[in-house]
Amino acid sequence: LDPEEFRRQAHIVVDFLADYYLNIENYPVCSQVEPGFLTKTMPLSAPLQPQPIETILQDVQKHIIPGLTHWQSPGFFAYFQSNASTGNFLGEMLLTGFNSVGFNWLASPAATELEMVVMEWLLKLLQLPKSFSFSSNGGGVIHGSTCESFVCTLIAAREKKLSQRKADLGKLVVYCSDQTHFSLQKACRVVGISHNNVRSIQTKKSMNFQLSSDALLTAIESDVRAGLIPLYVCLTLGTTSTTAVDPLLALSEIAKRFLMWVHVDAAYAGSACICPEFRHFLDGVEGANSFSFNPHKWFLTTLDCCCLWVKDQSDLTKALSNDPELLKNKASDTKNVVDYKDWQIALSRRFRAMKLWMVIRSYGVTGLQEVIRKHVKLAKHFEALLIADKRFEVVVPRNFATVCFKLLAPNASNEDSKRLTQTLLDSLNASGLVYMTHAVIEGVYVIRVAIGATLTEEKHVHMLWDMVQEHATHLLASCAD
Ligand code: PLP
Repeated sequence: LDPEEFRRQAHIVVDFLADYYLNIENYPVCSQVEPGFLTKTMPLSAPLQPQPIETILQDVQKHIIPGLTHWQSPGFFAYFQSNASTGNFLGEMLLTGFNSVGFNWLASPAATELEMVVMEWLLKLLQLPKSFSFSSNGGGVIHGSTCESFVCTLIAAREKKLSQRKADLGKLVVYCSDQTHFSLQKACRVVGISHNNVRSIQTKKSMNFQLSSDALLTAIESDVRAGLIPLYVCLTLGTTSTTAVDPLLALSEIAKRFLMWVHVDAAYAGSACICPEFRHFLDGVEGANSFSFNPHKWFLTTLDCCCLWVKDQSDLTKALSNDPELLKNKASDTKNVVDYKDWQIALSRRFRAMKLWMVIRSYGVTGLQEVIRKHVKLAKHFEALLIADKRFEVVVPRNFATVCFKLLAPNASNEDSKRLTQTLLDSLNASGLVYMTHAVIEGVYVIRVAIGATLTEEKHVHMLWDMVQEHATHLLASCAD
């Protein structure tokens, strides 16, 4: 690594990226390439000789960019956004530049301690209970994904339960709702809990797709009667399809009666809770054993970044620690330092706290709150426009910055209505100007509009609304013909 050559090439790449952002609206939001577009055009073998950065970037422009779906585009309203910021990019440059692998405290004391600092800052910002703090028995760790946090907390819960009572792994049961993110099912498989022992409890539109206390209690009691052991319940603050919020307090009280582990997954909506007006959604989190949210969704921080707090850090470390000779050192022996390798699956870890620290410092709390409020305001406005137009139905009340709607057709069956909304979505996406995705809830096909991409402003939401109206008019007219 030649520092001067690094300086020269890095400047070229920064210029390239700045131009990408300047021109991002010229690209179709969702990539329109066909499968194999790249594998068929790229050389079959790696180059033998070094190639200059200028040539490589020409290929990025010509071959890679057409195959990108532009998540940072202002017309991106799909899934949940993964937004970003200048502060984040600079933090990412620093953490990659240092490439410090802080698996234990000694391997990079600053990486560990900055992570502890940032997790305590966020704990205060979210007004999480003191019991999740390092100053009590708790603490926070940055994982790569919510799925990883599911796996780690499931393993912690499993080990804790099996240390308390002798039981077969096959007797442990996990509870969630049919709206819980599907990665919980995968995490259960990873930790050895079979599909048959995961209760995905049905939710209802009449209850805004929240997990019901009665339904949870009934499922648990039935399992207990059958000799099974309730282990873990996953509650969601902001479900993926409709951003429903489970009643944390009531559900965690039931779980506690059965000595279960309660995890609260706020992957998307956790970010909103830094604003006092949304904090009430977190009420009841004090009943949880663990809580996680993804700054890599709505906190201007790029992948990968999931913040997990646990009430009792020893639950995690007892389940996940190992002590190989190779890593032995005096600091770890004192037990007065955090060795984050014992809070996660892998040994190696990125210095993710650096980018989160940069984001928080460069925006400040008020700046971050402003971003959340802007997105919510835009979503509220979009929702109001839909409500005022009788051709649309907002299918569930909006909680945050995601709106779910469908197109209504006079006298249409549910099947016709589904086809119509699907056609509307396809035609809007085919324009290349916007990109949205769908959900099916209680058999109803809805278009999800998640507002929160990096560059989305009011004018883009207006453009979306104009397009929705125009495409719906055409579609309904063609149906009437
Ligand atoms: N939980 C919720 C509510 C989500 O919406 C998502 C992703 O959208 C996840 C979990 C999965 O997150 P990750 O990709 O970080 O595992």
